[in-house]
Amino acid sequence: MSDCLFCKISTGDIPADIVYQDDDCVAFRDISPKAPVHLLVIPRQHIVNLYDLKADDSALMARILLTIPKIARQHGLDDGFRAVTNTDKGGGQEVFHLHFHILGGGTPHPL
Ligand code: AMP
Ligand code: ZN
Repeated sequence: MSDCLFCKISTGDIPADIVYQDDDCVAFRDISPKAPVHLLVIPRQHIVNLYDLKADDSALMARILLTIPKIARQHGLDDGFRAVTNTDKGGGQEVFHLHFHILGGGTPHPL
């Protein structure tokens, strides 16, 4: 998607503090952190949110889910973390490219 902020971060057209990347996904620091460690993990592929997932995305999503705890551990989150994906307006989504927040390193914010 040409007009998508996170697609542009994925391609390097917009800078971000990238902490991990592979063929499937990119992880970078949230620009407005809500926890001592606050990272965002995005698929390189433009997927809007969980509503937009197709069966064909299953293997990609499984690989990303397997990568999330590895990234968390690389950032010292060995005693736990939160992984959150806000979905559409009712879920508070502000950037309409699927992303998982990794939050940790402090007192967990109550749900
Ligand atoms: P959400 O409400 O789940 O869509 O959250 C979007 C997140 O993206 C927020 O936590 C923002 O702080 C974060 N964000 C927005 N723009 C940028 C950016 N250019 N680089 C890093 N994080 C960003
Ligand atoms: Zn996108």
